[in-house]
Amino acid sequence: MADYAYKDEKRTQIIYANSKDIIDFKGVSCYCKNPKCNSKMYIVNPDHPDKAYFRASKKTPHRGSCGSELHHFNRGEFNPNLFKFPDILVNLENESSNKEYQFKNHSDKVGNADKAIKTLRQLYSMCTNTPISDKYAGIRIGDIIADSRNVKESLKGIIGRKIIECNFYKYDKDALAIYFNYPCFPDNEALIQVSFESEEKLKNALNSIIPLSHSGIIVISANWNASNDEKIICKGTIYSQNQIAIVKKD
Ligand SMILES: [Zn+2]
Repeated sequence: MADYAYKDEKRTQIIYANSKDIIDFKGVSCYCKNPKCNSKMYIVNPDHPDKAYFRASKKTPHRGSCGSELHHFNRGEFNPNLFKFPDILVNLENESSNKEYQFKNHSDKVGNADKAIKTLRQLYSMCTNTPISDKYAGIRIGDIIADSRNVKESLKGIIGRKIIECNFYKYDKDALAIYFNYPCFPDNEALIQVSFESEEKLKNALNSIIPLSHSGIIVISANWNASNDEKIICKGTIYSQNQIAIVKKD
């Protein structure tokens, strides 16, 4: 499911599933937000814009990262006025018992507008369901996330706090590091390097990551720096397991 799609193959005209005139798109073939995905998207529930969403035609399945179950964001659940960026990512770096690794199915809850987006999964869900050039609480989505939609910009380097959608590539026990593919398989072009403070923290992360296939979708939050290695677009350190979220197993 998806909260928006494009009317045109060049992805210049956005169509939101909750548009009042979404009924006009009943049976109309639209384009997936991932520019490398050729999936044909059709509106479901066009008679009820508040419940409408785009679904890929079974004949043209998604490719890469765009078919995850988190591809719907319940906007009524969170108050954008309480959203502070990059403070939310700074908070994720502080160790807490809130385990992010586990795969959980997304579920809509009854609106509670006193709540701010807090976890990495909630933040990812908002970002992936909002067009990359749109804003949330005044922050451009492309300044919060690097994913399949802003590859060109992200390959130039990622500096500072940001979340990155990626897949597991390999780990290096001696270097206390894990390497991830960006953008997601099968369009991967570069690597990101994630370092850990101790072997124990590396092991904890690997316990969740190793069982995934190389196309499992992972989201990582860090304060990114430039790398000297040409293939590695950025590197960051994991202080807390809250900085890593498994979005999709394969
Ligand atoms: Zn797609």
